[in-house]
Amino acid sequence: MESVRDIFASLGLQVGPRVRFDGVQPGPGVVISDNPATGRPLAAVTLDGGSELETQIAGATASFRAWRAVPAPVRGQVVRAIGDEFRRHKAALGELVSLEVGKIRAEGEGEIQEIVDIADFAVGLSRQLPGSVFPSERSRHRLMEQWLPLGPIGCISAFNFPAAVWAWNAMVAAVCGDVTVWKPSLLAPLTAVACNGIADRVARSMGHEGVFRLVIGDDQTVGEPLVADRRLPLISATGSCRMGRRVGQVVAGRLGRCLLELGGNNACIVHADADLSLAIPAVVFGAVGTAGQRCTTTRRLLVHRSILPEVTRRLTAAYAQVAQRIGDPLAAGTLVGPLINAQAVQGFTAAVAAAKSQGGTVLFGGEPVAHPLGGHFVQPTLIAAPASGQLPIARHETFAPILYVFGYDDLEQAMAMHNEVDQGLSSAIFTESFRVAERFLAADGSGSDCGIANVNCGTSGAEIGGAFGGEKDTGGGRESGSDSWKAYMRRQTSAINASGRMELAQGIRFE
Ligand code: NAD
Repeated sequence: MESVRDIFASLGLQVGPRVRFDGVQPGPGVVISDNPATGRPLAAVTLDGGSELETQIAGATASFRAWRAVPAPVRGQVVRAIGDEFRRHKAALGELVSLEVGKIRAEGEGEIQEIVDIADFAVGLSRQLPGSVFPSERSRHRLMEQWLPLGPIGCISAFNFPAAVWAWNAMVAAVCGDVTVWKPSLLAPLTAVACNGIADRVARSMGHEGVFRLVIGDDQTVGEPLVADRRLPLISATGSCRMGRRVGQVVAGRLGRCLLELGGNNACIVHADADLSLAIPAVVFGAVGTAGQRCTTTRRLLVHRSILPEVTRRLTAAYAQVAQRIGDPLAAGTLVGPLINAQAVQGFTAAVAAAKSQGGTVLFGGEPVAHPLGGHFVQPTLIAAPASGQLPIARHETFAPILYVFGYDDLEQAMAMHNEVDQGLSSAIFTESFRVAERFLAADGSGSDCGIANVNCGTSGAEIGGAFGGEKDTGGGRESGSDSWKAYMRRQTSAINASGRMELAQGIRFE
């Protein structure tokens, strides 16, 4: 496609006057969406304020009453049609993701594929949403649980998954009978306009208006009031731990429900017996893919000291190859796109400087890249921790392709190093030993303390079928597959008396 304007035209979406492609000027009431690969503006998007937020939340409350009355399998048919529309527009939407947040083409399209996948999953779910029946202690009584629609929900998304995270929430919420009010990152408003526009168009064409709603605004005017609003029984928020701490407190203050998907600081253990032909490519993809801007990015590598020189040598060689492929995310062959903005480059530079001052040794990279495109490129970077293993900067999530490499002597030491950070999202071990793998996954909970623990697979690139999320400062939320749908429904327990007598539980007599 020639431009973002052409992409919107190919999607058949009328986005004026919210989105302007010409005469894009910064100013009050607009946010400019920049292409991180060039630093140049793509379009200006009009910001919503308090009154638009009120319109959306009040409208969502009304739409919810109508939507929850639609049978779940019929709601599933709407989601099926939405999934089909995303299937049809995968290439164009993937390109929009690439243009707006700098993902390489395969990853931009992969993100739209996640929407298709979760829509498929939600369609199946729409025929299930199973409750339970329990044996009652009273004769001719039935004890059961059913799951009911929860309400309009708020969905806050991060810039780095500008489409998929919304879909994980909105597609599942929709089959559960909920309406979604989406507040996207101001770094990716165009993807939000396109994705919500498609879902809303399909639902409307099938007679269901207002199930998918969008508010684009800053955190003070729109984000904070959305989080505080009691009409939204669930706030699902994806982003930094800083954001989650704030959102979690505000929602707890009104006794609402929160689903938090926050930062990670993911480690990969490469044990002495690892198959390096598996481990090295998985580590490189995990650390460098999406230019290190995934919540599941591999940030810490823990290598058994007996193979540390070999692993370091192979990784350095792989990084040298990958570094030849930094550039235009949409060009064939590019493996590393830009960081999202100049501030992210500053964060990268500051982290490298801190690592050096703390005794780390830069094995590869460490510098911003002055690319002919302009943009916000940095080198994929490999930093060896000092022999003491003390490298405080590695306890922080820097959203950039920096991998800190540590040596360890025995597995118990590796487990302790693995679990010592505040975050608990994703983790991985490479080993050919059954016992070592089982130690990592130990059923007594003494293994990996993360929500995701992989064996001979890297930390990033989750499938939608399992529940996705992390522990500790990552927030404890679970989204996407498995039984994550329960977060979007309310549970009701019922005792039904068919005995014709009034019998109390616990054998209590009250006569
Ligand atoms: P961010 O925290 O800066 O912003 C995330 C979202 O929260 C944005 O929409 C932002 O506008 C909103 N927000 C921030 N403060 C708010 C407030 N007070 N009230 C309401 N909304 C508020 O994060 P980011 O830079 O966009 O994304 C990167 C971060 O997200 C990383 O830490 C990454 O690990 C994390 N992330 C986590 C997951 C996960 O599933 N665990 C997935 C993607 C990204």
